[in-house]
Amino acid sequence: MYKGLKKQRAKLLEKQGWICKLCERKIEPHNIVTVDHIIAVSIKRIDKVKNYAAVHYKCNQIKANLPMHILTKEMFYPENRRWIRVLMKGPKNRNGSVEEALKVLNLTSNPYDTYLSRANPTHDEAGVHQDQDAAGHP
Ligand SMILES: [Zn+2]
Repeated sequence: MYKGLKKQRAKLLEKQGWICKLCERKIEPHNIVTVDHIIAVSIKRIDKVKNYAAVHYKCNQIKANLPMHILTKEMFYPENRRWIRVLMKGPKNRNGSVEEALKVLNLTSNPYDTYLSRANPTHDEAGVHQDQDAAGHP
């Protein structure tokens, strides 16, 4: 790891009082820590100047897989990680049902499903954009 990054991480940890900015739980010395853009779930705005924070690697992985607007604090709580995995893997898993996971995480629908359907629009949806572009250039 680069010396500068290590220094930045140490500085951030000190400033944050060893609290992860995503799950707001203690970062232990043995935890894998990464420096990330602050995603203050409650604020939903990124301050472009002070937008770096030290977070748990595992928290960062959850964030990386989902768009910001559907993230909730509950998703980052360590005790809820198994339910996040249930949502990601779908109904074919031994850890619990999707319905159970939604209930625990206080969600009405699976955010991964929503995200995946948006990331891979159907042919119809893709066609709409093309038609709109074409309309602008007769
Ligand atoms: Zn965390």
